[in-house]
Parts: sequence; structure tokens; C-alpha cells
Amino acid sequence: MKLVLASGNPGKLREIGTLLAPLSFEVISQGSLGVAEAEEPHDTFLENALAKARHAARACGLPALADDSGLCVEALRGEPGVHSAYYAGREGGREERDARNNELLLRKVGQNRSACYYCIMVLVQRVDDPRPLIAEGLWRGEIARAPRGRGGFGYDPLFYLPGLGRTAAELEPAEKNRLSHRGQALAKLMGLLSESCPG
Ligand code: IMP
Repeated sequence: MKLVLASGNPGKLREIGTLLAPLSFEVISQGSLGVAEAEEPHDTFLENALAKARHAARACGLPALADDSGLCVEALRGEPGVHSAYYAGREGGREERDARNNELLLRKVGQNRSACYYCIMVLVQRVDDPRPLIAEGLWRGEIARAPRGRGGFGYDPLFYLPGLGRTAAELEPAEKNRLSHRGQALAKLMGLLSESCPG
């Protein structure tokens, strides 16, 4: 099955590509087909993921997989949530934005440092697919006092896993994929795909 990944985020593409590698998909990023990233105007992860998957399926004429994800901090009432990518503004490149997002988060978070990463994955067979497959994943952790680690992307240097004594940026890529919100969502989605009826 040929599948377009509806994302331009290199961190996501790397992780999803690795997770799908052992399965029988020919995975293509929308960027490699010259397709720009979709708008994400909605207030829910689900609506944004569906918009991204449909955008890629429409532009490429292929089945499309989209991930909408973010960091939700309990004491900030779920912020940055759907605004995770541009929490501290849209200026600058991806790495610059990630650094500013992390600085802002450290300034805002108080005593209660509980947080979770949330991911929703949507797979559509075509733009007008009446039965999109949808699966979610949740990864609980805490916001660290200072960034640690060089792996992963985005908020990973601040996402501390008390059970492991490490941040997500200190995990090996395979370990992050096994535990993460994205890994969980994709595993569930593959289960749904294997049970779904064709057509
Ligand atoms: P979107 O799904 O394109 O709206 O962007 C998701 C944003 O959430 C990313 O740009 C990151 O800031 C953050 N995020 C989602 N998943 C992860 C992760 O696994 N590690 C670090 N940051 C993440």
C-alpha cells in the first residue's frame, strides 16, 4: 500500500517512517511530492489531523496518514495543546521556534509540573473517505526544571519521565517510539487497519 505522510515536521517523519518501516507500506512524504503543509485552523487535534490527511489525499491522490499532536500541561489547563508548534510565535525556523517554545514553557509552568503528550492519527483512503481510521495515544510525564538531552525534537528535552529518570530527548529513538504517544497511536491505527473492511 502506498501511503503519503501528511507532515513536513522532520521529527515526526523520522519517527513515523521508522515505525512503518517493517510493515508493507511504501511511505512517501507529502513534501517530496511538492505538497505544502495544510492549515491547522481548528481547536481540536482531531479536526486538524483530519484536515491534514484530507489535504494530502486530495493533493497526491493517494491514501494519507496524518498526525496531530502536542504537549498538554495540567497547570496550564492543557496549554500549549493544539498550539504546541507555534506556542511562542510563528517567527523563525523550526529549531528556533522549538527553543523559544521551551523557554516560554519553562517561564510559565509553576509547581504542578504534570503533563502529557497527546497524539491523534488519522488515515484516509481518499479525500472523500467516509470511514477515516482514527487512533490516539497518550504519554504521561512531567516538565523538567531545565532541558536535558539531544535526541527527539520539540519539547522532548523538557519532557521528563520519572519512571525512567530521563527526558524524552535522552531516550534512544527506538525506546521513544516504543513508549511515545505517537508509537501508541500508530500501533492502534495499524490494528484498526488490519480489521477494517476494504473499499
Ligand atoms: P502539529 O501536530 O503539527 O500541530 O505539531 C505538533 C507540535 O507538538 C510539534 O511541533 C511539537 O512542538 C509538539 N510535539 C508533538 N509531538 C512531540 C514529540 O514527540 N516530541 C516533542 N514535541 C512534540
